[in-house]
Amino acid sequence: MRGAGAADDLRRLAEALEGRAPEEVLAAAAARHPGRIALACSFGPEDCLLVDVIARARLPVDVFTLDTGYLFPETYQLWRDLEARYGLTIRAERPAAPPADAAAPPPWEVDADGCCDLRKVRPLRSALSRLGAWVTGIRRDQTPERANARAVEWDGRFGLEKVNPLTGWTSQQVWDHLRSQGVPVNPLHARGYPSIGCAPCTSPVRPGEDPRAGRWRGSEKRECGLHLRPQSGKT
Ligand code: SF4
Repeated sequence: MRGAGAADDLRRLAEALEGRAPEEVLAAAAARHPGRIALACSFGPEDCLLVDVIARARLPVDVFTLDTGYLFPETYQLWRDLEARYGLTIRAERPAAPPADAAAPPPWEVDADGCCDLRKVRPLRSALSRLGAWVTGIRRDQTPERANARAVEWDGRFGLEKVNPLTGWTSQQVWDHLRSQGVPVNPLHARGYPSIGCAPCTSPVRPGEDPRAGRWRGSEKRECGLHLRPQSGKT
């Protein structure tokens, strides 16, 4: 249980960091958690931007990804491209369970929430248990669940600080940065995939559709469970 004083301190820090450049937010967070801070990279545009910022500013922030085993080939290639471009290692966090039996019904069709829990949430929880803060690329305008995100906040679900350097950024700002810096991005974005997760659960979107409409298309599911807030009532 955290005290009210710690909550107030974090709230004041979030206010002080509001609107600051990503490298400033990251530097402040890294100074608070030396050796215990990492970016959870899902290879979306925002995460590629943060890899670029971390590498160019030489910030002491580790980078890892959740390798479900079902990523697109283009995503695995982007993983290698980013490592080569910036000379860093993006560590893989993998599920403890073996890959699904090829003869069995696909787990994402049987129970998508359970599949995400096994292949994303549990490996993330294990990775975060060793940290004092994790970094994400979430922006407030992505989903209603992310609308109140702050630059730094307490993540009561995983029990550590959450650092969101891009909360106030728009998609246009992100893409302007990526293009101006020549940051490698997933080529699927140019083929109608604004939001990319596992290959079996991601489809292209049509013009005018919500950018995340291609995630788990045909179901009510909109989040893999990594960024839900306890007070939302969802798990
Ligand atoms: S996105 Fe789909 S394949 Fe990936 S972990 Fe979730 S349900 Fe499984």
